[in-house]
Amino acid sequence: MAANKRVLGVDIGGTKCAVSIGTPDGQLVDREELGTDQSAEPAKVLDDLQRIASALLVKHKLTLESLLGVGVSCGGPLDTSTGTILRPPNLPRWEAVPVRAILEEAFPDVRVVLENDANATAVAEWRWGAGVGFQNIVYLTLGTGIGGGIILDGKLYRGHSDLAGEVGHQTILMNGPICGCGKRGCLEALASGPAVARLARESLNYGRGRALLAAAGGRAADITAKHVIECAKRGDALSMGVLNEVGTYLGLGLANIVQILNPQRIILGTLAIHAGELLLSPVREALSEYAWARSLEGCKVVAAGLGERAQDLAAISLVDADSA
Ligand SMILES: [Zn+2]
Repeated sequence: MAANKRVLGVDIGGTKCAVSIGTPDGQLVDREELGTDQSAEPAKVLDDLQRIASALLVKHKLTLESLLGVGVSCGGPLDTSTGTILRPPNLPRWEAVPVRAILEEAFPDVRVVLENDANATAVAEWRWGAGVGFQNIVYLTLGTGIGGGIILDGKLYRGHSDLAGEVGHQTILMNGPICGCGKRGCLEALASGPAVARLARESLNYGRGRALLAAAGGRAADITAKHVIECAKRGDALSMGVLNEVGTYLGLGLANIVQILNPQRIILGTLAIHAGELLLSPVREALSEYAWARSLEGCKVVAAGLGERAQDLAAISLVDADSA
């Protein structure tokens, strides 16, 4: 019975990796973290993760038969049909790594599912977080970058080559600031964490922004999105203005998505969780300006619901209890 089954989650990131054990209904049982050694061969990292996984299984007296499957969440690009990690920018040594085949060999007869991290988090938010009960949702990460995941008619939408949901790279501003992807004026270059910091630094001219500068220890170069949010919460006008500008860009980007997909929930990650209404309020305002009122009926913009557990649950959510 699926009720006694467990799911193994493997989260592979640029700074850390984690192995977790969860139930098919989204309860996190245990987890173990490992710093990512960027210079290590992928085979070595996967070996370490397998060892951690085996130790966790022993600790919880679980056999391979009790596993419903292994969910692997990793930054793209990747190929979900073959289970291959292609070449994530944050993992430079990982090139064409057949992670599914490797883990299937390590855990015989256990199903292994690979998915990009933003899609995986979208699935987790949909199954257990802010998207529960809805068939059409869009999720945006809003961290260092802006990744996205789209659930359409109750199913993750991957697109032709696993590249659907790259909502952070829609062009918002012609000839705008350069984006990590090489284009100009992408939403990610205007509304990610680093974009908040950059806009704040650029607003410091003419002696404005003393409170923000003080929060960053006196050095403009050290200002982060976290400082901006902290200062905005204390009522600093410049910081609030930055979040207002970022929220407007974001709302414009979301309006484009709303016009195309007509979702019921738009779920926003990191920045929205920390900034709350300071960001969500300008987002909603821009949305109502740039999207049809009819398209917005029944559509809510909310902060993500899974908080700190999101990354572990993302990997775990990939193994669907119903497919056992
Ligand atoms: Zn871009």
